[in-house]
Amino acid sequence: MKVPFIDFLNVVVKPKVEILAAIERTIDGGNIILGSELERFEIEFAEYCEAKHCIGVGNGLDALCLALLVYNIGPGDEVIVPSQTFVATWLAVTNVGATPVEVDICPNTVLLDPGLIESAITQRTRAIMPVHLFGQPAQMTEIREIANKHGLRVIEDAAQAHGARYRGSRIGALGDISTFSFYPTKNLGALGDAGAVVTNDDVTAEKLKMLRNYGSAIKYHHEMLGMNSRLDDIHAAALRVKLPLLDVANEKRRAAASRYDDMLADIAGVQLLDKNDAVEHVYHLYVVLLDKRDTILQHMKDLGVAAAVHYPILPGDQIAYSLPKKRSSSTAGRRVAERSLSLPFWPDITPEQQRYVVECLLKAISL
Ligand SMILES: *Cc1c(COP(=O)(O)O)cnc(C)c1O
Repeated sequence: MKVPFIDFLNVVVKPKVEILAAIERTIDGGNIILGSELERFEIEFAEYCEAKHCIGVGNGLDALCLALLVYNIGPGDEVIVPSQTFVATWLAVTNVGATPVEVDICPNTVLLDPGLIESAITQRTRAIMPVHLFGQPAQMTEIREIANKHGLRVIEDAAQAHGARYRGSRIGALGDISTFSFYPTKNLGALGDAGAVVTNDDVTAEKLKMLRNYGSAIKYHHEMLGMNSRLDDIHAAALRVKLPLLDVANEKRRAAASRYDDMLADIAGVQLLDKNDAVEHVYHLYVVLLDKRDTILQHMKDLGVAAAVHYPILPGDQIAYSLPKKRSSSTAGRRVAERSLSLPFWPDITPEQQRYVVECLLKAISL
């Protein structure tokens, strides 16, 4: 047996006939930039997120950059980011000229540790950017409280958490702004790059609509220094086909995750991640922690199982962010970077495939 890391056709191109029909309808309509498919998707996704506004943009990184730009966060400003995340969270901060200030994660959830945030706040801090990593919501109540106390914005990187819930509320309108990526393999994925910014604030939403479109609300009138980052209508059309299926897909992810939890429960040397109270996790990835990770990864590959690592190098340890010889001081983050293993995972992975993955993992550990 061979198990891929993700079943691309199952996750990205389903339901193919309906997606192709929606794209054809869009092309035939002739309105493929800022057209009616985008407008409808924005209404539907905002509603799904239990938020007032959704602004479709080019990708998840642009969504994060636009969230910072709309609050005029730039040179001289500091933004608190988690030590372990996909590099895009940090890149958004540096792309607008601000400085990422890293705060370590909780070692057992891999989410921003609220207890460490306050000591990282300075006169220059403008925002906190929690990441709902792997599909599990960060501790938003604690983060919101700290942000309110210090007058900071909360910008959620929700690129891995479409449909997740925190204390009953959908991820989307808990912070000031939430940003999403519809990269093809995300829980809700387009057939190329796409993203969105979600907010409850009317004025912020209007500004974001201008910023993504050359700073313009009326053609050839430019009120702000904007960028070109619009969500294409053909992607919006495909996303509209897939959005109604998202809750069922997330439910299947939870069922598959719970099967892995059971299969791995009593295995020495495999540490499962903790779940925070009162969250509905959407398992963008299924991640465990173990020693000798790289050797195990290679053995599993040899046995036909494509596991992966998210993410092997902390953003603060990347060459792009390192002064000569400087390393991130986040010990919990680094330990996770060295020990995390993402098992093959998608909504329709079968119990047989999962059993084989676990069998190979055990073999690889004992080798
Ligand atoms: C995917 C991802 C992004 C970036 O999204 P793109 O659409 O690829 O630009 C940002 N943050 C996190 C946590 C992600 O997983």
